[in-house]
Amino acid sequence: RYVYVNGEFVEAENARISIFDRGFLFADGVYEVTAVLNGRMIDFAPHLQRLRSSLAKLDMTLEMDDAAIEDLHQGLITRNRVENGVVYIQVTRGVAERDFAYPSDAEPTVIAFTQPRDYFGDRNAETGVKVVTTPDLRWVRRDIKSIALLPQAMGKQEAKKRGAYEAWMVEDGLVTEGTSSSAFIVTQEGVIVTRALGREILPGLTRSRLLSLIEEEKLPVDQRPFSVEEAVAAREAFLTSASSFVLPVVSINDYPVGDGEPGPIARRLRARYLDFATPA
Ligand code: PLP
Repeated sequence: RYVYVNGEFVEAENARISIFDRGFLFADGVYEVTAVLNGRMIDFAPHLQRLRSSLAKLDMTLEMDDAAIEDLHQGLITRNRVENGVVYIQVTRGVAERDFAYPSDAEPTVIAFTQPRDYFGDRNAETGVKVVTTPDLRWVRRDIKSIALLPQAMGKQEAKKRGAYEAWMVEDGLVTEGTSSSAFIVTQEGVIVTRALGREILPGLTRSRLLSLIEEEKLPVDQRPFSVEEAVAAREAFLTSASSFVLPVVSINDYPVGDGEPGPIARRLRARYLDFATPA
């Protein structure tokens, strides 16, 4: 298995990173996860754009141009023969003597690796998944795809402990998003609801793509916050992410959503997304 480290493809066990890397010491870095389906990356351009945006918000400058970043993704997909999976890329501020303020002379550290994913055989798509809710313990700049993920790890661990697949994080009684996914409900009137973009959530790219597909399907959408009570009373719920696409949510805190089965809109949108992601 090859990984990418600062310009080189090396075997994973030969990869080396300094203990003084600010990613390690301060979580001073950002990342992206891009899905690969049938050997092809899905929506790479917006991932590149979001990476640039996260970097810019943290005043980090990465000398690599877009083509070089795409080449490193492609290089890993080829070397690791990835058919279905993800490419993870992480950029940190680099290696410097430990000091909170940004160093003036550090070079960003760029690492990347791949992971396989069985998108086509995903049982969760058939059965739907359980969600629990948990307080949103994150900082206030969730629009930055930061590698500081401890609150999300805590949320996911709680979900696992409670027998669920994902935790939806809640602030002021309102759902922000999942620990690693965007959250949607379908109201009893058939309106698809998801929180509007802002500093409170990550601008999910599967969310964004799905919203365009929903528009093409001429389904009603309202981008606004929703409460846990509204989600439990919804006709349907689902979540989206690059590593799961669209998954129906069948229960929230063990209360069934709708009839407790994957809903027709969630199923239709998953199929629609897969159509988009696997052009003939
Ligand atoms: N929200 C959070 C907090 C995430 O960590 C993720 C993905 O990891 C998402 C939403 C989904 O984003 P995307 O669809 O770009 O994978």
